[in-house]
Amino acid sequence: MKKFIISFILLLICSCQSSESENNIAIVIHGGAGTILKENMTPELEAAYIGKLEEAVMTGYEILKAGGSSQSAVKETIIIMENSPLFNAGVGAALTNKETASLDASFMEGKNLNAGAIAGSKYIKNPINAAISVMEDSPHVLLSSDGADEFAIKMGLDTVPNSYFITERRLNSVRKAKKDDMVSFEDSFINDSKYGTVGCVAIDKMGNIASGTSTGGTTNKKWGRIGDVPIIGAGTYANNDCCGISTTGWGEHFIRNVVAYDIAAQIIYDNKSIKEASVKSLDKVMETGGDGGVIGLDNKGNISMEFNTAGMYRASVDINGKVTIKIYSD
Ligand code: ASP
Repeated sequence: MKKFIISFILLLICSCQSSESENNIAIVIHGGAGTILKENMTPELEAAYIGKLEEAVMTGYEILKAGGSSQSAVKETIIIMENSPLFNAGVGAALTNKETASLDASFMEGKNLNAGAIAGSKYIKNPINAAISVMEDSPHVLLSSDGADEFAIKMGLDTVPNSYFITERRLNSVRKAKKDDMVSFEDSFINDSKYGTVGCVAIDKMGNIASGTSTGGTTNKKWGRIGDVPIIGAGTYANNDCCGISTTGWGEHFIRNVVAYDIAAQIIYDNKSIKEASVKSLDKVMETGGDGGVIGLDNKGNISMEFNTAGMYRASVDINGKVTIKIYSD
């Protein structure tokens, strides 16, 4: 009898473990890439970044673990980063030449290739919510500037005055860039140059992949400049047949190289691994003169976090529950 009970308990443990790993849930996030060097970082600031990355990635992971959808994991994870002034998205966004915030975001679902995006919004508190709403509540994929704000108000999303997004650090950055008359990624906060877009990709227990990206764009941007983030296929892509991708970096080059879709295409047509495909696409970005990073996961839950800059704020929880949080290059 004792032997039988022990075998039964062992059987139970084994079947629990295998059903856990069969679920293959995983999540990966970025908070921007760039010349992020340890010597330019204070211990306090480093701890703040690590803490916020951990909070964001674990929030999404807990949703997935509880059986929630990849859509809600990506949404809630990105909201945490949009609400933090540490990143170039939502509050703390990079500012335009007019010293205003102009926000872009996109979202895509891998199960049906549904997608939504907004560009040049001035008042939407959490742009990722608006991107999802464009996907779910409109017949369109991309809404821009006043139209995006009008749509968000009509949908009852939270709006705030533009001043809500503006921080002293970003004002200093844009004023310096204006003095030098350059569009830049200068970040006075860490006395260095970097991108700060946020992004998240997740796969849920149903095997559905979702990707989202949110940004304030480039410092000192003019003339309604829009980067890669709200362009489906450039800054964001998801397809259950292969993978989900979110990018950060010099947006013009990510558009020209159609980076997020380029990675997916290499996996579908060329049988590349997500890591190989990401490295190849970043090489193409470098060839046209750009730089940045990409995060993604494939439909088995394999994660990649690649960049050709000195560092990238990044975190993940893989299919075995292993948590990784990193800032600098390995
Ligand atoms: N990719 C963004 C843009 O060009 C910038 C960033 O990643 O921070 O708008």
